Amino acid sequence: MGSARLAGRSIRGRLIRAKAPCPGSRASRSATLASLLWLLVLLLLGGCSQKEAADRPLRVATAVRALYDLAAEVGGERVETDLLLPRGVDPHDWEPSPGEVARLRAARLVLLGGGVDPALRRLLGREQETLSLAGGEPHFWLDPRKYARAARELGKVLSRLDPEGKEDYLRRAEELGRRAEELDRRMEEALSRCSVRVLAETHGAFGPLAARYGLLWLDFSRASTPGRRAELLSRARREGIGVLFYDGDEGPGEAVQLSVQLGVRLLPLYAGEVRERDYFETMEQNLRSLREGLSCPGR
Ligand SMILES: [Zn+2]
Repeated sequence: MGSARLAGRSIRGRLIRAKAPCPGSRASRSATLASLLWLLVLLLLGGCSQKEAADRPLRVATAVRALYDLAAEVGGERVETDLLLPRGVDPHDWEPSPGEVARLRAARLVLLGGGVDPALRRLLGREQETLSLAGGEPHFWLDPRKYARAARELGKVLSRLDPEGKEDYLRRAEELGRRAEELDRRMEEALSRCSVRVLAETHGAFGPLAARYGLLWLDFSRASTPGRRAELLSRARREGIGVLFYDGDEGPGEAVQLSVQLGVRLLPLYAGEVRERDYFETMEQNLRSLREGLSCPGR
């Protein structure tokens, strides 16, 4: 019965089954010469590169440190994870070199996020699949609960691209997810006790974090026009902020003038984008700055 059905199958069915081997595999004797030629052409064009792709380790590239950590943790040894962003470079100003573009194009999966998406999207080849985690929300990783969800989302995507590693990916994703959720619980506990409930900052990255912990977010990266700047300054004064947070990776820069105008202190927050500091380190530093700047009692 099985063999009868097999014999009755169209040439298309045979082509699909014959995809894996490179030329040299024996085609069905019953195929016509024309079908054999087509088979050969398809194998040369598609089958072989698919086979080679299956033999290579799965390569994932990204330009954001927090996403690199996510891919390296969830992917483990089965995945080659490549952080394209060089040391000492702000991702918002990054212009990829030809070598970095080549590395990007060698990747099977590209994780997008943060402010680098436009630059990366322009450079993608046809071979790459892209993944915008957390629905593409910029800086989502600064909310650890969203980071946890992104870990599980990535675990599923890697399982689809490399089914043999599925168990491994899902287990690792779950471990990372739990670690991020534990961080979230500590942050929630610490930040629920802050007497200041306003997070004023100059990077424009901490909206997801502020939303998660019930803080009002004042985004001074939007103070680009004099009118908008005046509006934000008067709002900050009304809310009685005592600290302006600047991008710790970039340095205080323009935040200095703002802090003088407001008569407040400056403290750093880190966006998790640069190469130098890993995700959990970044978040621990942020928690320390937030506790100090928002007057949160406790340890
Ligand atoms: Zn950013």
